[in-house]
Amino acid sequence: MSADIQSIRGWVAAARRVVVLTGAGISTESGIPDFRGPNGLWTRDPEAEKLSDIRYYLADAGVRRKAWQKRLSNPAWTAQPNAGHKAIVELENLGKLHALITQNIDGLHQKAGTSPERVIEVHGTMHSVVCWDCGWRGPMLPTLDRVRAGEEDPACGECGGILKSATILFGEGLAPGVMERASEAAVEADLLIAVGTTLQVYPVAGVVPAAKSAGARLVIINAEPTQFDRIADAVLHKPIGETLPALVG
Ligand code: NAD
Ligand code: ZN
Repeated sequence: MSADIQSIRGWVAAARRVVVLTGAGISTESGIPDFRGPNGLWTRDPEAEKLSDIRYYLADAGVRRKAWQKRLSNPAWTAQPNAGHKAIVELENLGKLHALITQNIDGLHQKAGTSPERVIEVHGTMHSVVCWDCGWRGPMLPTLDRVRAGEEDPACGECGGILKSATILFGEGLAPGVMERASEAAVEADLLIAVGTTLQVYPVAGVVPAAKSAGARLVIINAEPTQFDRIADAVLHKPIGETLPALVG
C-alpha cells in the first residue's frame, strides 16, 4: 500500500512529533558502504561479518588487527553529510523533529547539524574508543594515531585491556537506557519515517511496529523491501538523497 509524494508531504506538514529512524542506507550517498545493500560490505565479503562480532574480536588478536586497519581506512573519517542528512536538519529547524534514532555509527547526523541531544545512537559511535576490560573511554583519533605509528592492536593505557571502537558489535548488549529512550520517542511520534535500513536488526527494528501500534503514521524509504512494508502507510523504493528532501522541503 502506498501514497504519493504529495500526500506524504501533507503528512509531514501536519505532523508535530516526527521520529526518524535511520540506517546505513542514508550514508551510502556520502561514500560509506552499507552492510546488506547490493554493494554492501557483507554482501561482497561474508567473512567481514566476523569483524563485527564481539566473540571473534575478543578471542582473536588477528581479528582485532584487521579491525584496526579497517578503522584507519574507514571512509567515514572524511565523509560529508548528504541531502538526506540535511533534510532531517530541516525537519528540526521546522520544529518537528522529536527524535532521530540512528543505527549509524558515523556521526554524520551531528556533522550535518542535527542537535546531539536529539540523536539516539543505538549502536554507539566510531568516534570514541572504549576499553572492554575497565570501561575507560576516550576520543578515537589518538588511538588511531597509535595504530598508524605501528601498534597493531593497541592496549588500554589504564589497564592494558582490549580496546575497541565504542560501537555495539553482534553479541554485545546495547548501552543501558538507550533502547528505552528510542522506544519512548517512537510511541510519542505522530509520524515515523524509517530511512535506509533493512529493519532486520533488533531490538531497534521493533520501534517501527511500536510506533505504528501507538498511532503514528509510518513512511518507509528504502531501495529494497523490508518486513514492515505491509504495515506502512507509504513505502518509497527510491534514492534517499532526492526523496527525503522532497518530503520535507
Ligand atoms: P543495512 O546495510 O542492513 O541496509 C541498508 C539498506 O539501505 C539496504 O536495504 C539498501 O538497499 C538501502 N540503501 C542503501 N543506499 C540507499 C539509498 N541511497 N537510497 C535508498 N536506499 C538505500 O543497514 P542497517 O539496517 O542500518 O543495518 C546495518 C548495521 O550496520 C547497523 O546496525 C549499523 O550500526 C551498521 N552500519 C553502519 C554504517 C554507518 O554508520 N554509516 C555503515 C554500515 C553498517
Ligand atoms: Zn582498560
